[in-house]
Amino acid sequence: MPQTPLTLTTTLEDSRLIPPATLRGLRGLGIGSVGQLLAHLPTRHEQLEAETTIAELVPGAICHVRGEITATRPTRGPRPRFEAVLHDGTGRLDLVWFNQVYLSDKIAPGVRLRVQGKVAKRGPMLQMSNPRPEVLNPEDEPERSDGRIRPVYPASEDIASRKIEYAVQKILPAALPLVEDHLSPAFREQRALPELREAYRMLHAPQSPEEALAGRRRLAYDELLLLQLGVAMKRAHLRAHLRAPALDAGDVVFARIVKRLPFALTPGQRSVIEEIRADLSQARPANRLIQGDVGSGKTAVALCALLMAVASKHQGALLAPTEILAEQHFASISKLLGDSKVRLALLTGSTPASEREATTSKLEAGELDIVVGTHALLSEDVRFRSLAVAIIDEQHRFGVAQRAQLRASASDGFATPHVLVMTATPIPRSLALTLFGDLDISTIRGLPPGRTPIETRVLSSHDRVLAYNTLKARIEAGEQGYVVVPAIDPTGVESPSGPLVDIRTVVNAMESGLLQGKRVAALHGQLERGTREAVMERFRSGVIDCLVATTVIEVGVDVPNASVMIVEHADRFGLAQLHQLRGRVGRGKAKGTCYLVADPTTPEGQARLAVMEQSSDGFVLAEKDLEIRGFGEVFGTRQSGLPPFRIADPFRDRELLLMARTDAQAMIDASPNLLGKDELLLRKRLMKAHGKSLALADVG
Ligand code: ADP
Ligand code: MG
Repeated sequence: MPQTPLTLTTTLEDSRLIPPATLRGLRGLGIGSVGQLLAHLPTRHEQLEAETTIAELVPGAICHVRGEITATRPTRGPRPRFEAVLHDGTGRLDLVWFNQVYLSDKIAPGVRLRVQGKVAKRGPMLQMSNPRPEVLNPEDEPERSDGRIRPVYPASEDIASRKIEYAVQKILPAALPLVEDHLSPAFREQRALPELREAYRMLHAPQSPEEALAGRRRLAYDELLLLQLGVAMKRAHLRAHLRAPALDAGDVVFARIVKRLPFALTPGQRSVIEEIRADLSQARPANRLIQGDVGSGKTAVALCALLMAVASKHQGALLAPTEILAEQHFASISKLLGDSKVRLALLTGSTPASEREATTSKLEAGELDIVVGTHALLSEDVRFRSLAVAIIDEQHRFGVAQRAQLRASASDGFATPHVLVMTATPIPRSLALTLFGDLDISTIRGLPPGRTPIETRVLSSHDRVLAYNTLKARIEAGEQGYVVVPAIDPTGVESPSGPLVDIRTVVNAMESGLLQGKRVAALHGQLERGTREAVMERFRSGVIDCLVATTVIEVGVDVPNASVMIVEHADRFGLAQLHQLRGRVGRGKAKGTCYLVADPTTPEGQARLAVMEQSSDGFVLAEKDLEIRGFGEVFGTRQSGLPPFRIADPFRDRELLLMARTDAQAMIDASPNLLGKDELLLRKRLMKAHGKSLALADVG
């Protein structure tokens, strides 16, 4: 019977190239077909040194030898170490491992061992310190390494990287010719990108480290290009098909709006508002990201935009990520609007049903001008008479999907409102382009006058009393403060009182006695709205000296009299988050001080906190955070709506990203739906990768 030809969708089982045990292991990793195995890429490559004999060893060089262990000696005590002697018939090599006495479980006389490390001469003896050991199986001893580069694959308990490597090598000759490229030879040549099948070969079977890099570069480019294409296609579609109300943003209206504010706008606020004015006067929906460091005055900018909608007899909505923030925006906007005739309402998940009904029917009838709220504003029963401006505060908690929903919620007459997104987590520009590539970007530079920089100090938990003493002294001088902790409730955690306890939770902190005699209240997301509002109100009016809070206060809370913040377990928070948190103090006349209490156990943890002491610039911190932790950690799954990357790291691959972005824009400009006959494969791959998440189906 003739065998059907192999394709990329052929199951590995049908390919008859892979042994059953390996098949099972691969299945556990979600790999069932030839194509899936080809797409299972190594995370890194190991350069294997060619093996030598002990007689050939050169002191000072990194070498690779194998032999038999003839003696071992573990030494415990304050400087534990494990020593062993290796013989290979040509000579003797001494091995020593510091602090790794557990190796004595694996390495004993008679064991065949391969080691890699740097050789040193000790008197007449040759020695390797802390070499990398690999115990060899005498029945199945691997061939002597010839110095090639080995791919290291994501593996599991059931299947080791080596087994995956063998399986990949088995299918490569048949699979590679099946890979079709979606980029033309001329296009690739201009960008020095290898052909797609060659890129897979370079990653799975590189002949040099440079090849592995070149293969990775091609696939990372493809990943970035597909996302940028999706974003550009979406954007072109929005531009071409969606209409928004063109607002009257003329000088007369604008002057009236600005006069409402109790302060003169900073130059940074003014230039961003100018950009918004230009946007809102167009019949094309604005889609703009406004970044500004903590305290740069984004609320005033938002209010100006909302009032432009109202001035043209439309409505405006302000969405906040948390109820506390929505409540606070509502309070401060009410105050700013004072005696004006603008009709304002608050709508959140805790709004009582009757009030909610009244508010939604007024919104639909056009009897409200501005509504402030949370996700609750996105639900289906909320309809606007004529929503012209929607502002989303603190973008990183809302994803692309929510923005799409907001567009859809606009009711008859106009298809979609102008959308402005505000974020205080400044994102390096190149990244902002990727993550929010369908947005225009404005940056509020500078802070309102009169701010003194916040002093930040890192303390170990042994020194925390210092921080609490400062806090108490400031409270006695009439100021207020915050203690921030990672969690609410110490389930099962003993919390003895005293300065040396582990303060991990709101309850720990309240019971610690560290703020004895001061008026302290807890604030966290599990409190009822009424309680929460009452606590905030009492704090704002000075009846409470100190809030003990979780990160619910991270964004937006604005109490100028609060001057000291203590963050417990500060190493558990990201840099951007710490920067947000400390932005709660130093908003008034008193100097702001922030204590970061932590006992970081890794050099990385220490480095991150040191950065907080050194820099007060949110942009610098955001870059550092990315540098130290990498893109995946900073914008990992916890944040919704951000695209995941398999190969590319948009921060480290910035140049590739910019290239992909330029290329994508040029392609879409030339062919908005990618329906040209040379583009069909590219389009197919684009739809597979992003068609759903970017809702591209209705685009082409
Ligand atoms: P953020 O950008 O962090 O949201 P806010 O909008 O909360 O900042 O503003 C921080 C504080 O600065 C508020 O108390 C606000 O009233 C004040 N503020 C904003 N703009 C100005 C300005 N141009 N001059 C003086 N104070 C301002
Ligand atoms: Mg704000």
